Amino acid sequence: MARVIPAIEPTLPVPSPTNHLTPLHALQQQHPPTESGQSVQGNPLLAWRLGAPSPTVLTLVVAAFHGDEPESAQLLTRWLATQLATPTPNLPPTLCIPALNPDGLLANTRQNANGIDLNRNWPTTNFDSTTPINDPYFGGHTPASEAETQWLQGIIATYQPARILSLHTPYRVVNYDGPATDWAEYLSSQLPNYPVTTDIGYPTPGSFGTYYGVERNLPVITLELIEAPLAELWPTHGPAITAACQFNSTT
Ligand SMILES: [Zn+2]
Repeated sequence: MARVIPAIEPTLPVPSPTNHLTPLHALQQQHPPTESGQSVQGNPLLAWRLGAPSPTVLTLVVAAFHGDEPESAQLLTRWLATQLATPTPNLPPTLCIPALNPDGLLANTRQNANGIDLNRNWPTTNFDSTTPINDPYFGGHTPASEAETQWLQGIIATYQPARILSLHTPYRVVNYDGPATDWAEYLSSQLPNYPVTTDIGYPTPGSFGTYYGVERNLPVITLELIEAPLAELWPTHGPAITAACQFNSTT
């Protein structure tokens, strides 16, 4: 009988321009997630726990706060599929959330289904409820009002990640909040022409990075990817995510 050779490349549907969640839902059928919840419109919010069982230095990697940034979800879904098919030996503890805003991904909107920017909906001291409702950066009338925010808040409270990597597009920078200088410089060194910056260039009241990085002193990187097809991103950016999870994992 022929030996079964593990697939090196995961067999996933190609991301569809009309449904960026197709590969993730296919993966969900093959590998049940560790945690799940529901978006405003009832789409699944999914998290997979990977790597060593030890709780030390658990890295949370999350993509697609913004639904009009599908490259982030495509890249992290591909990374997750690869890890589930052929795990990196000794991968440190990692929690992977490929699509925080499934409703926005399906509608191609920055905001969630309630028209709220999930990266401005966090209960920071500078939360701003005065942003006009129709503004794409509107963070809600009250902080943590959204199902997606509440779910992620609960996940973070449960898993207590030591650091967080959040994937966005399109600025080609490694932005960070909190004590993440070394981690950000290391990730920058693993990527083609991604400078490190502590300032994204505009105010971000109520942001995820402010909440967990500035106010809770966790290393939080906001990796702003270039907008490019997955086939172009994957060869360099896939290994960089693995490297980010492995960085300094014994301390
Ligand atoms: Zn974004």
